[in-house]
Amino acid sequence: MRLPRKIKIGAIDYATSFKKDLNHSAGAPGIINFWKRFIRIDPDCCVPHTTMHEIVHGIAHGWQVDLSENDNDRLAQGFLCFMKDNPKLVMSLLEDLEG
Ligand SMILES: [Zn+2]
Repeated sequence: MRLPRKIKIGAIDYATSFKKDLNHSAGAPGIINFWKRFIRIDPDCCVPHTTMHEIVHGIAHGWQVDLSENDNDRLAQGFLCFMKDNPKLVMSLLEDLEG
C-alpha cells in the first residue's frame, strides 16, 4: 500500500512516512505525533489497519474525544470494515459533500 505524503485530519496536515521496527508496545505498529504533525507506519504490519488506527487517534485529538487505546483500535477496525463493505456509499457520501 502506498501512503499519501500528507493526511489531512481536520485543520492539521500530518506528514506521513514508513518506518521499520517502531516501538509499538502500547498499540498498533504506528505513531501519530500531534505536535510535530507526523504519522509513521511500520511497513511490515497491516498498513491499512495501522494507518486507520493512527487516523482515528488524529480524529479523536482534533475533535477532543477521549478514547481508550482499545476503543480507538475497535473504531479503526470498524471504519475499515464499513468502508470495505460499502464502497459505493462511501463514494456517494464524498461526492455529496463535494457537492
Ligand atoms: Zn494507538
